[in-house]
Amino acid sequence: MVKAEGVHKSYGAAHILRGIDLEVQNGEVFCLIGPSGSGKSTFLRCINHLEKINAGRLYVDGELVGYRQKGDKLYELKDSEVALQRRDIGMVFQRFNLFPHMTALANVMEAPVQVKGETKAVARERAERLLDRVGLGDKAGNYPSQLSGGQQQRVAIARALAMEPKLMLFDEPTSALDPELVGDVLDVMRDLAESGMTMVVVTHEMGFAREVGDSLVFMDGGVVVESGHPRDVLTKPQHDRTKAFLSKVL
Ligand code: ATP
Ligand code: MG
Repeated sequence: MVKAEGVHKSYGAAHILRGIDLEVQNGEVFCLIGPSGSGKSTFLRCINHLEKINAGRLYVDGELVGYRQKGDKLYELKDSEVALQRRDIGMVFQRFNLFPHMTALANVMEAPVQVKGETKAVARERAERLLDRVGLGDKAGNYPSQLSGGQQQRVAIARALAMEPKLMLFDEPTSALDPELVGDVLDVMRDLAESGMTMVVVTHEMGFAREVGDSLVFMDGGVVVESGHPRDVLTKPQHDRTKAFLSKVL
């Protein structure tokens, strides 16, 4: 579903991603861990072309992200073409970024109506189903300010799912939450994983990575240091940098 080949990204003189190679299979839960500043968020943002890569190739579902290739030359896609690619990729951030002036239901209905031109009736029916699925069927009429952080994050997940994405990106979805609210959000993500969704998850929740993850990558300094099955990487890390990181977070 996602393939990165030699992906580099710099901000000015700061060389952040230094040749990322990895592959995310369809239906897989792919966890990304690493110290602060190692480039995890930057890499996620490259996957949906919120950031442009400086070298390498990045594919989602077999399609080059943000570019069209002719011969060995790359041509940038138009904004409208990038927007089409992005429709298939749901993203959930650390901060929930819900529209504050809209109810939970309206938040979830918004993109299908505005972006896909769906009728309100169809969008509403799906939104109600999705809110039910994340355990918030009875909160559809609440505004974000009337929801807990964990509830807001579950609305954000429902909102991303409303576009029926083929890939979901999560950037530390629980790290801004009070500890007692984390479990409900992880349960929703676990459910989603069981439904077969392909997920790339940047997380500090090692329990989630171990129990739900199919693959785990440890990134440091803009490169993949170590990867494998979460159980193996977490219990038998091979590299000193991985060992040092895990000894701090486990
Ligand atoms: P964290 O665990 O703290 O979220 P991260 O692994 O997600 O860290 P990134 O957010 O990808 O790290 O940042 C990697 C590096 O890139 C950092 O040094 C950061 O300062 C730098 N960086 C990120 N975004 C930009 C930007 N828009 N302009 C300049 N530098 C940036
Ligand atoms: Mg980050």
